[in-house]
Amino acid sequence: MDPAPQHTENVGPSLLRIVAQIRQAEDASGRLPGSVRLLPVTKRFPVEYIQAAMRAGMTRFGENLVQEALRKFEELGAQPTPEWAIIGHLQTNKAKYVARFASEFQALDSVGLAEALQRRLDIEDRSLDVLIQVNTSGETTKTGIAAADVPALVASTAPLDRLRVRGFMTIATNGGDDRETRRCFAELRAVRDSAVQQAGLPFDELSMGMSGDFATAIDEGATVVRVGSAIFGSRPLASDAWHEPRGG
Ligand SMILES: *Cc1c(COP(=O)(O)O)cnc(C)c1O
Repeated sequence: MDPAPQHTENVGPSLLRIVAQIRQAEDASGRLPGSVRLLPVTKRFPVEYIQAAMRAGMTRFGENLVQEALRKFEELGAQPTPEWAIIGHLQTNKAKYVARFASEFQALDSVGLAEALQRRLDIEDRSLDVLIQVNTSGETTKTGIAAADVPALVASTAPLDRLRVRGFMTIATNGGDDRETRRCFAELRAVRDSAVQQAGLPFDELSMGMSGDFATAIDEGATVVRVGSAIFGSRPLASDAWHEPRGG
């Protein structure tokens, strides 16, 4: 992992390198070229990095904190604006922010949140691609629901017509060896396969794999990899820098 943030002029070359590594991993795993989508994760990076990645052809970005994403959305303002994927845990009272501007939400973990999103999306007259986050690592610090609770959540989202549940997301065990990482990804794929059988819905998205483990995730069937530091370098801002209201 890079020890410092990249200069913005290195973002384009870094992106090309990661895209090439994704193609290699697709090839090595017998996956079709282009079957894996790269979601660049720009959390804690200022908008200059997003603009540099947009010049390199990226159009959708992942952020784990919704207020930080909203601030960047507003800061970028004029055209062309990117699309936003919120990939971190969301409190129900912040559903309104996601409903306002996000294209995708990858961390659905409760019926209450699904219903709050539905209500807010109704008000905004928008719809949202949604992934259910599954805790495959068993770590208590990780958000996401247990695999056993997936069928109930899938069933309760069925009537919520503003949400398009497209699949599942997970974060592998922190610092796990390759075998443990692979087990997490294989579990998510199994969750998806049985949800497809039970609900008779396509659920084609599997969001798994980050900077350190995306090749393994692709081998286990990832359709989206969420890559931050391998593209942008190490994150420059403290996460709580974004909690302060504008102007102090
Ligand atoms: C930060 C983050 C990533 C990217 O992590 P890197 O190791 O920097 O690639 C991926 N997924 C989620 C949910 C994140 O919060």
